[in-house]
This record gives sequence, C-alpha cells and structure tokens, in this order.
Amino acid sequence: MAKVFGKDLIEKMKGRSYWLADYKENIIDGVRYCIWCGNDLIGRKRKYCNEDCDLSFWQIYKGEFVWSEIRNKIFNRDDFTCQKCKTKYDPNVLGDDAWSKLECHHIIARVEGGTHKDENLVTLCKECHKKETRKLTQRIFTTRKFLINRHHSRLLLDFLK
Ligand SMILES: [Zn+2]
Ligand SMILES: [Zn+2]
Repeated sequence: MAKVFGKDLIEKMKGRSYWLADYKENIIDGVRYCIWCGNDLIGRKRKYCNEDCDLSFWQIYKGEFVWSEIRNKIFNRDDFTCQKCKTKYDPNVLGDDAWSKLECHHIIARVEGGTHKDENLVTLCKECHKKETRKLTQRIFTTRKFLINRHHSRLLLDFLK
C-alpha cells in the first residue's frame, strides 16, 4: 500500500463526504505518517510532524474545498447549464459525469482582478470554457506585447533625444 499525502490526499478527499478531522487512514504497518509531507510520525502525533506541515496542508485543503463549495453553488444557480451553448448536464441523469463536464468561469479573470463573488462567476461546459480561456490568453498576450512595444519605443525616444 502506498502512502497518500499532500496534494494527492487533498484530491482524494474531494470525493468524500466526511471531514478531515475523521481521517485516520494515514497509517501503514502500524506507523502513522504526516498527511502533508509523508514522513513517519514520531511519538503521539496523529496527522502532522509539525506546525509547518499542519499549516501547509490546511491552506491548500481549505482553498480547494471553499472553491468546490462556491462552484457547486454556481452550478446549482445556473441549473447545471452552460451559459454559452445552453447544454444542460443534469447530475440526476448523468451522475458524477455532470460535474466533470462543467466548469466555473470567472467573467473578469482572476489575473485581471476578478473575484470569487457570485456575480463574477458563471457555469460553462468544458468546451466553451476552453474557448474563453483561449481568448483570455490572447488578450493578455496582446496587452503584454503592447506594453513591451511602448516600453521599447520610449527607450528609443530617450535614446534619440
Ligand atoms: Zn510533515
Ligand atoms: Zn458550452
């Protein structure tokens, strides 16, 4: 049996209904291991070797779970329907598959200052999301090119002065 810890464990916990507090499977041959770094635990430690491991695990764990909660709320609000192509992926019909077909899109991208607030989030299917992401990458690329060009022409002007 292989140790499952760190981000792999967080990924595994996503599909579970119980809390991290009840997680007791970090044990192999009677020895517990740290759920963040995977090192064997010494003494009476139950989950982490030290505070650093504790904090590191929690930051990511919390981030992932808060996000999945937000996402679920948006999917429900949009009735599991892509807001671009209007395809519905009903979890009552498709089960878990529905969740993997849909993604939560930031209308104003995170890199452009968009928030996780409801009004900035919308349900898209994977395909439509890909298109939106491509547009964003292009936009960022063009802006950068513009800024670099401007920077260069300024240098040139300074040089010509
Ligand atoms: Zn550790
Ligand atoms: Zn779509």
